[in-house]
Amino acid sequence: MSQTTDAFAADPEATTIGTAWSTEDGAGRARDLFAEHIGGTPDGVWAAPGRVNVIGEHTDYNNGFCLPIALPHRTYVAARRRDDDKVVLVSQLADSILSWEGTLDEIAPGSVNGWQAYTAGVAWALREAGYGIGGFEAALVTCVPLGAGLSSSAAVECGVGLALADLYDLGLSDSDAGRTDLVNAARAAENEVAGAPTGGLDQTASLRTTDGHALLLDCDDWSVRQVPFDLDAAGLELLVIDTRASHRLVDGQYEARRRACESACRILGVASLREVGDLGAALSALDDEEMASRVRHVVTENDRVTQFAKLVDAGRIREVGPLMDASHDSLRDDYEVTCPELDTAVDAARAAGVLGARMTGGGFGGCAIALVDRDVCNDAARQVVKAFRDAGFTHPDLYVVTPGPAALRVQ
Ligand code: ADP
Ligand code: MG
Repeated sequence: MSQTTDAFAADPEATTIGTAWSTEDGAGRARDLFAEHIGGTPDGVWAAPGRVNVIGEHTDYNNGFCLPIALPHRTYVAARRRDDDKVVLVSQLADSILSWEGTLDEIAPGSVNGWQAYTAGVAWALREAGYGIGGFEAALVTCVPLGAGLSSSAAVECGVGLALADLYDLGLSDSDAGRTDLVNAARAAENEVAGAPTGGLDQTASLRTTDGHALLLDCDDWSVRQVPFDLDAAGLELLVIDTRASHRLVDGQYEARRRACESACRILGVASLREVGDLGAALSALDDEEMASRVRHVVTENDRVTQFAKLVDAGRIREVGPLMDASHDSLRDDYEVTCPELDTAVDAARAAGVLGARMTGGGFGGCAIALVDRDVCNDAARQVVKAFRDAGFTHPDLYVVTPGPAALRVQ
């Protein structure tokens, strides 16, 4: 559960720590939207989480390791099966209501755009994968912040995908293999319909995590291992700082990093950077200094994820801070995907005495996270807000999160 901290309410200079909706609240909102804009009652309500990646950044498309958790912040989908091929979608985002009506055959790359690509696009991807689905109606509400790097896009894709799987008895919801098929459909919607060239981390985190655990994901074969992540027992909090700096994954920078990694693979003669065993030898084989820095980030980051999981497995969660710090520094100096807001958030959190802090997500804006002792959390949040104010940045949004369940049917 997310928490609201009284000390913040008492201090107008600071900010409240954002709370996720309860399951009942989220499902009720989705049902109300369904009743008002579609009419009648849905066949069910599904909820799919956003995610925060604890460590392992820009490793997914390099066949490496990541360690995400599912957020308590989720997208709720109230949906009903239809007897024809019509698709009716409604989504409430803050005060605006988005709606779309069409038929299954009208949904394809290039013919649906924007938010419809992430929602209707999943129906296209499931049909492409050979699943027999018909028409449906869906009403969506969300408390996942949009465009903050917490993967509202995967939450919406996975919520719609799981709803369709259940409405049409595709047999995908109850097994990890079935959920992996849903991951692929959700990812295809994002890559091919929305045109965002992201890896499969976000959708895997939304569909294959377990309550109370982080997910050690091997992006080489997409195998997963659930790593118990009991922050509470260790007296710790995970503070998420949404810098609200605009996050532009599709503007070419992300693509440029991917291309640099691919070029490095060609020069090094490996299928992916995952295969680089001897970092020193790889670096000396690369003339291009920038390319070498990108490789150094990916190879050292994979190593940090492995070390992080080992420490957590051994009950040494309080010792992971330096790995988080090193991850951020590598993303700042070698991969060059941070920005002044992310660096300020991390520096201020560290100065307040957190165990470790790093940017998370694609970078160039979005969120930072800090692992922090429970009794230091408020002060760390306050210091971050103060640093943002001093730098003249937009007020950050703050969340305290613990690992929640993967996407599931809630009603
Ligand atoms: P992030 O995944 O980090 O939040 P993205 O840019 O990948 O940011 O995805 C945000 C986009 O996903 C939104 O602009 C919107 O098109 C779509 N989206 C996310 N949640 C919803 C929702 N509940 N309803 C409709 N579209 C959504
Ligand atoms: Mg996204």
